[in-house]
Amino acid sequence: MPIATVNPATGETVRTFEPLGADGIEERVARADRTFRSYRATDFASRAALLASTADLLDKEREDIARTMTLEMGKTLASARAEAAKCAKAMRWYAANGERLLADEHPADADVQDSGAHRALVRYRPLGVVLAVMPWNFPLWQVVRFAAPALMAGNTGLLKHASNVPQTALYLGGLFHRAGFPEGCFQTLLIGSGAVESVLRDPRVAAATLTGSEGAGRSIASVAGDEIKPTVLELGGSDPFVVMPSAAGELDHAVATAVTARVQNNGQSCIAAKRFIVHEDVYDAFTQRFARAMEALVVGDPMEESTDVGPLSTEQGRADLEELVDDALARGAQALCGARRPEGRTAGWFYTPTVLAGVTPEMRIHREEAFGPVATVYRVRDLDAAVEVANDSPFGLSSNVWTRDEDEQRRFAADLAAGGVYFNGMTASHPAFPFGGVKRSGYGRELSGHGIRAFCNVTTLWYG
Ligand code: NAP
Repeated sequence: MPIATVNPATGETVRTFEPLGADGIEERVARADRTFRSYRATDFASRAALLASTADLLDKEREDIARTMTLEMGKTLASARAEAAKCAKAMRWYAANGERLLADEHPADADVQDSGAHRALVRYRPLGVVLAVMPWNFPLWQVVRFAAPALMAGNTGLLKHASNVPQTALYLGGLFHRAGFPEGCFQTLLIGSGAVESVLRDPRVAAATLTGSEGAGRSIASVAGDEIKPTVLELGGSDPFVVMPSAAGELDHAVATAVTARVQNNGQSCIAAKRFIVHEDVYDAFTQRFARAMEALVVGDPMEESTDVGPLSTEQGRADLEELVDDALARGAQALCGARRPEGRTAGWFYTPTVLAGVTPEMRIHREEAFGPVATVYRVRDLDAAVEVANDSPFGLSSNVWTRDEDEQRRFAADLAAGGVYFNGMTASHPAFPFGGVKRSGYGRELSGHGIRAFCNVTTLWYG
């Protein structure tokens, strides 16, 4: 894949970039390693001040970087602005909470004595240079979600960003340094995916984090496994959105949330609700309103304030989505709306919001991730069936359930195989809550204390 900015709303190649050669990579890896040796010894207060300055700078530059993101990957300008604001918030959250989250732990006195020590404690020390391989869909957020805790913990970072967001990648490479971090703390490597393996195998690189597809996850985890280096993998998702009869009184709210949950980021979000599992008592009412609301969305230029849904980020992404829809229709699914490109738009990679009913396990879309504005709806007869369909997926990232019945909530909380269960709302990440999945959605957690400890050397200090 060439490293280039290609406007998904027009198909025009705006700018291409030469990948970094071996010397450029070496220079940056060496700098990251060198910087780690001094940066690791800095105190929390100074790291927190640097992160807070980075948040301030990002706030000042929000409009420009939002336009760059929209140009490169087609998210609506409003959502790009919101993404930049969310990044600044996460930086401030880690600046305020990092020291507390990494405070020394003190085992019980009886256990310390039992171990033969007069004193013992657990300390979270930084691990070293961490390689971050990141996707284009939230090109700022995915990176900051890793970088803010990693830098707060005293690590240094190298970013290999997706090849279609090079200007956002270069912006990030400069942002932390311009805000005051030493240059080697966070650097961008403008490289293709073929160059990742040798960087990951470099002995100066301690660990890796990947947000992306299953294939990339398998590849990074294999190399890291071979090198015995820790990884965090945030992979795909096909989150369920369950609607039970007790939501009947707030169906309009559930429908509006379902639409947002499905088409956020033009439908290209790992935690987008993708499979809508509806109890038969409310199925007709929910599904009709949902399809009408999806149909009413404005598809168009993502720079326009009136646009709800912009283009898909790549031509291949739209082709993959069309294949999934065509396969379902050929096997008997019914399109309640959409299932086509918008009329009158010949340039750009647009696709109309789509709702498919009558989906069966033989259809690819039942098991694969639909990375675009396409929803599937399932009719279920009771709670057991809802849990069964929700869990019938290779993925387990997050989940959404609409029910006010506390017994039902207990059952879903216990039995949904996912890294999150969001009741009467939709999944949205927050710095204070762990984020990540099970099954093929990956392993490890980002955000919260779990995210900052992921790249720490958890050290026992024992004094005899
Ligand atoms: P992708 O193709 O896997 O790309 C993600 C990153 O991995 C890019 O930087 C890509 O580089 C690199 N890459 C791809 N194959 C690689 C390999 N074999 N070795 C090393 N690096 C490799 O994913 P995508 O299609 O851009 O992103 C969408 C996927 O990400 C979806 O499945 C989505 O659900 C998932 N995602 C998950 C989360 C989460 O938090 N769980 C969040 C967002 C997205 P190039 O661009 O140069 O190929």
